[in-house]
Amino acid sequence: MDKPNPVDLILINGKILTVNPHFDIVEAVAVKNGRITAVGGNQAVRALDGPGTKIIDLAGATMLPGINDAHMHAPFFGATRPPLALDLTFPAVQSIGDIVEAVRRKAAEVKPGEWIRGFGWNQGSLKECMNDPAMFPRRSDIDPVSPNNPVILTDFSGHTILVNQKALELAGLHKDSPDPVSGEVERDPQGELTGIFKELGAQALVTSHVPILTREEKRIALLTAISILNSHGVTSFTDAAIGPGGEAYVGGVMSAEFVDIYRELLAEGKLTARVTILLLLGNYGALTYKDLDEGLRTFKIPTDLDREWLQFPGVKIFADGIPLTYTSWMNEDYVSGNYGHGVSVIPGRTDQEQNDNLVSMIGLVHNHGFQVGVHATGDRAIDAAVDGFVLAMKNKPGGDPRHYLIHGDFISAETCRRLSAINGGVAMQPTIEAMISDFEPSVVGEQRAAYEWPMRTALDNGVNLTSSSDAPITVPNWILGVENAVLRESLTSGAVSGPEEAITVKEAIRTYTINGAYQDHLETVKGSIEVGKVADFCIIDNDILTVDPHLIRNIKVLKTIVNGKIVYEG
Ligand SMILES: [Zn+2]
Repeated sequence: MDKPNPVDLILINGKILTVNPHFDIVEAVAVKNGRITAVGGNQAVRALDGPGTKIIDLAGATMLPGINDAHMHAPFFGATRPPLALDLTFPAVQSIGDIVEAVRRKAAEVKPGEWIRGFGWNQGSLKECMNDPAMFPRRSDIDPVSPNNPVILTDFSGHTILVNQKALELAGLHKDSPDPVSGEVERDPQGELTGIFKELGAQALVTSHVPILTREEKRIALLTAISILNSHGVTSFTDAAIGPGGEAYVGGVMSAEFVDIYRELLAEGKLTARVTILLLLGNYGALTYKDLDEGLRTFKIPTDLDREWLQFPGVKIFADGIPLTYTSWMNEDYVSGNYGHGVSVIPGRTDQEQNDNLVSMIGLVHNHGFQVGVHATGDRAIDAAVDGFVLAMKNKPGGDPRHYLIHGDFISAETCRRLSAINGGVAMQPTIEAMISDFEPSVVGEQRAAYEWPMRTALDNGVNLTSSSDAPITVPNWILGVENAVLRESLTSGAVSGPEEAITVKEAIRTYTINGAYQDHLETVKGSIEVGKVADFCIIDNDILTVDPHLIRNIKVLKTIVNGKIVYEG
C-alpha cells in the first residue's frame, strides 16, 4: 500500500553537515515541495519514500547547506566572462603571448569596429612580468593583431585596464592629451600612451566610450553569473550594488535595469539562486546625501516579491577605497608613499566633515527602514560607519536592521564589540586575502598587514561574520575561501599572514552559510539543513572537516541543489 504523504526527494548515505547550532552530522535528508521534511539516519528517512520519490545515493559524499556568497556583483561578474568577454584569468592566460593570442582569435571572429572586451589578467601571474613589477602587457603587444577593433582588457582587480590604438582613437586620446585629475595614464619615454590606464579617474577617459550593454547582453551577463555561481555550490548571494547610480559604470553592469531583469528571471523560473540586492542610489564611488535622499524618495523599490527568492532590503554606501591603492581611510599613516592616512570618498573638506556626512547618510537610510551595507576597509572609515549605525539606531530604535560593513579589513576588537551590540556584521573576502596578502606589508607595514581581515577577532567579539568573493574581484570559490580562512596562506607565495586571526573549518563554513542567511534576515528559512528550511544543498567530493587543510582547495563540487532541484552536476 502506498504511504500517505510520500516525499519528492531523499538523499541518503551522506556525511551531511547540518550546520545547525550543534553542527550535527547526519546520513540522510528528505525533501517535499522544496522544503526539508526530515533529517536523520538512513533508515528513518528512507522509510518516507513513495512511488514518485527520487533517491540520490550520496555514496559517502559530504553535503552542506547551499553556499551563500554574501557580497558580490553578479551582472558585473557575468559581463567579465565568456561569451561577453575574453577569459584572461590564470591559468587560462599565463603570459603576454597568451593575451595576444586570445585577442587575435577574437578579432578574427567579430565584425570590424566591434569592441573586444577581456577581463582578469594578473600581472603577478604573467610569465614576462613576474620578475619585473614595471612590466605590463601594453598596446604595442596587441595593436598588431587588432587593427580594426577597439580592445579593452581589464585586470583582475579592476584597477588597471589595457586598451589598444583603435580604442584610443575612438576616445580621442593621443600623445598631447592632458593627464586626468585622478589616476594615471601611462606613457613611454617619448610621451606616447602605452595603453595602460590606472584607477577609475584615468580609466573613465576610455570607458566612457565603451558602449553600454544591450538589454539582451545584460540578461546574458546575469544568467552567465548565476550558472557559474551554481557550479561552485552557491545557492544564495547578495548583489551588492544595483540601481539608478549604476547606469554608466563599466557598460552599465550595475544598472537599475537589472531590477527588472531579476524579476523577469524569477517569473520565468530561471532564477536558480536566492538573491538579496543592495541598492546603489547614486554615483559609484561618489555617493552624496542628496543622491540617497532623492533615490529613497523616487526609486520604485519592489515590495511585491517572494523575499525567499528576491529581496531589496538594503542600500549600499561607499566610505573609502582599498589599501593597495592607498585609498583606505586609516587612523594611522601608510608606511610608504605620500598618501598620509588615505581618504574617504564621502563628500567633505576635512576628515571631521566626511565623518559627519557619512554618519548622516547612514541615519537617512536607516530612517527609511533599510539595512545599510557600508564599504569600509580602513579603520577610520570602519569606526565612522559603526558610529553611524549606533547613532542611527539610538535616534530611531526598533526593528532589527543588522547594518553591516563590507570588507572591514582593519576592524578593531573594540569596534567589533560595538557592532555586535547592534546585531551588526562584517562581510569579508578570504579569497581576496589569499590573492593580495603578500603586497599588504609594503603598504600598511607588517603589523597591520598581519591583522588585516581579522576573522578570529570578529567572531570572538560576537560580530556576524560572513564570507564572500566580491566577484568579479575573485572567483566565487568558497572552497578556496575556507582554506584561506583556516590557513591564511597567500596563493602566490604560500606565506602565512597573521595566523592568530585564523578560524576553524566549521566556523568558516558558518560564514558561508548560516551567517549569510542572518545578514539576509532569512536565518529561519535557509543557511542550515534543518526541518522546515529550504532544500538548498552543496555536495562535495571530499570531507572538508577532516582533510588536510592544505588539500581543501582540491575539493570539487559534485552537485548543487536549489529548492529541491539539481541546478548543477559536475
Ligand atoms: Zn564589492
